[in-house]
Amino acid sequence: MRIAVASGKGGTGKTTVAVNLAVTVARSGRQVHLCDCDVEEPNAAIYLDPQLGPAVPVSTPIPVVDNDLCNHCGQCAAICEFNAIACLPRQTLVFPDLCHSCSGCWLVCPEQAITQADRVLGEVSVGSAGSIGFTQGVLRIGETVVPPLIHTVKATVRGAPWVILDAPPGTTCPAVEALRGADFALLVTEPTPFGLHDLDLAVKLARGLDIPCGIVENRAIPGRDIVDRYCAEMDLPVLARIPFTRDLAAVGSEGGLLVDADADVAAAFTQLLDELVGLEARA
Ligand code: SF4
Ligand code: SF4
Repeated sequence: MRIAVASGKGGTGKTTVAVNLAVTVARSGRQVHLCDCDVEEPNAAIYLDPQLGPAVPVSTPIPVVDNDLCNHCGQCAAICEFNAIACLPRQTLVFPDLCHSCSGCWLVCPEQAITQADRVLGEVSVGSAGSIGFTQGVLRIGETVVPPLIHTVKATVRGAPWVILDAPPGTTCPAVEALRGADFALLVTEPTPFGLHDLDLAVKLARGLDIPCGIVENRAIPGRDIVDRYCAEMDLPVLARIPFTRDLAAVGSEGGLLVDADADVAAAFTQLLDELVGLEARA
């Protein structure tokens, strides 16, 4: 089962849920692989301390124009939806940072004036943390094209029946790439108006991708029921709650595992796993 742990908003505890769920799955005797797809700020390794293999560069093709061959017809600039090529009367310019490697320009060029060069997007490392398979991607500083790197991170998984994808925050292209192909989206939120606003965006994204979803309420406070009311309205199950306590916050901030620190939280993650196993059986 491929589970994407996502949230519309950063700082809701998405990685906390991903790593504690991975540990719970592994302790149940199931084979699990965690992919840290939050490539702009990967931090699952802080909690799991994995042994990682060498970092492998990931690149994407970008166009290189031979201005001696170019006839300045402008077809490449016309097909580029990202304004990454500008055709001037005497020169055709490429803006690599805007290129999304769609290949349109080199396919339409009538003079074969465009060749390809590699642009390094970042690097991917694969390893393990105990019995948990682990992959993380790290985006190159200054790089803006994220989805191909996330795609590569996901492609490293080999054979583990349980895959947990720690998605980037937000609901833009990186989050879409992380969620794509998931069997279930676990959306992490907190009981605040900001949390709920961004949860709503994440629910719409998951439903737009036709991925069933459920909610984990982090920093839950007794009596504060805005998450419950929203979930009832949207027909969404709340699958787990992590209470808002000073002790749990301290454990998380020191890179500790909540399931090791608090028996009630460990039981909540076990129940969450049971729910997911039930969903898988009914799928
Ligand atoms: S590969 Fe696609 S995105 Fe990149 S410059 Fe060519 S047409 Fe534009
Ligand atoms: S399509 Fe080819 S020939 Fe035409 S402007 Fe672009 S690079 Fe030059």
